[in-house]
Amino acid sequence: MTGRDLDPTLKRLLGSDEPEVSCDECFAQLDRYVELELAGAPADVLVPGLRAHLVGCPACAEEHESLRALLELDSVS
Ligand SMILES: [Zn+2]
Repeated sequence: MTGRDLDPTLKRLLGSDEPEVSCDECFAQLDRYVELELAGAPADVLVPGLRAHLVGCPACAEEHESLRALLELDSVS
């Protein structure tokens, strides 16, 4: 029982006391985070801990960059 399989949405509703997310959670929430960012929403508030993880995790930061570039292209067309 690590809790890592817990549905991220459910976990968010329950209110996580973890200030930082794991790589698994990061990947699970990254598309939502980027969508919020591109929409001009306070992504850091709505997806707590993800920014902190991106700062400390080069792999996820790279994923964030490419996903963001992809969605930016998407939203233009
Ligand atoms: Zn990571």
